[in-house]
Amino acid sequence: MVNGCPAMKIVGITRPGDVKAHVGIIGGSGLYDPGIVEDPVEVRVYTPYGEPSDFIIVGKIQGVRVAFLPRHGRGHRIPPHMINYRANIWALRALGVKYIISVSAVGSLREDYKPGDFVVPDQFIDMTKKREYTFFDGPVTAHVSMADPFCDDLREKLLDTVKSLGYPVHSKGTYVCIEGPRFSTRAESRVWKEVFKADIIGMTLVPEINLACEAEICYATLAMITDYDVWAEHPVTASEVEKIMKQNTERARKILYELIPKLAGEPDEKKCSCCRALDHALV
Ligand SMILES: [Zn+2]
Repeated sequence: MVNGCPAMKIVGITRPGDVKAHVGIIGGSGLYDPGIVEDPVEVRVYTPYGEPSDFIIVGKIQGVRVAFLPRHGRGHRIPPHMINYRANIWALRALGVKYIISVSAVGSLREDYKPGDFVVPDQFIDMTKKREYTFFDGPVTAHVSMADPFCDDLREKLLDTVKSLGYPVHSKGTYVCIEGPRFSTRAESRVWKEVFKADIIGMTLVPEINLACEAEICYATLAMITDYDVWAEHPVTASEVEKIMKQNTERARKILYELIPKLAGEPDEKKCSCCRALDHALV
């Protein structure tokens, strides 16, 4: 385990190049510590936007250099609307990451997307209200394409991995991102489900994904369904949610362990254009 490891070195960096990683992992609720990183070093990255959510754990998984950042900070100190998304993505970019796998707990808006299932979403709807959405506040401006917001190359590798482990997974899904920190009303939940035709709901995808795109980093989400949203009127109990979270977090670790070696090379340019997202976006 990484927490409390006496051998852990803490390194502060301000310049890219001091410490390097190839794959970034952003852990959500339940996943504050990957527990599978070899030779971990804790790195504090200073960014023009302030501090990331926590120290970043840099090390290796099956020989590939990774950087792990708990989105809410260890101990879940930072609620979704207060996360410094720009600092988080800037920090991972400064470490040199080419891929980001974002792990998130979500609610389900469909009967057949059951608690305990995984989803690898392919679309999102943004219902957040007051966040910092871009690195380009002027004088340089950019309008990046969000038509297909997730990296297809990374999604495919992630899906293959979840399937190979035999876990229940849905290969598509529209994620509606709400502002929070409160949950939806029943009326809102029915709008997301019946009018928007969204499949899952959470509070953290936006603007993390927009910023990753502006940073030209491949991005995919491993969404773990913890419960049905309130449209369903058959709420699960807190202890059921806790049990599912525990099971999914353990499975997420196994998925990451199997997936990371598949990302050792460079992104496949035939299947993804993430690394050239700014080519036609700058004004
Ligand atoms: Zn990509």
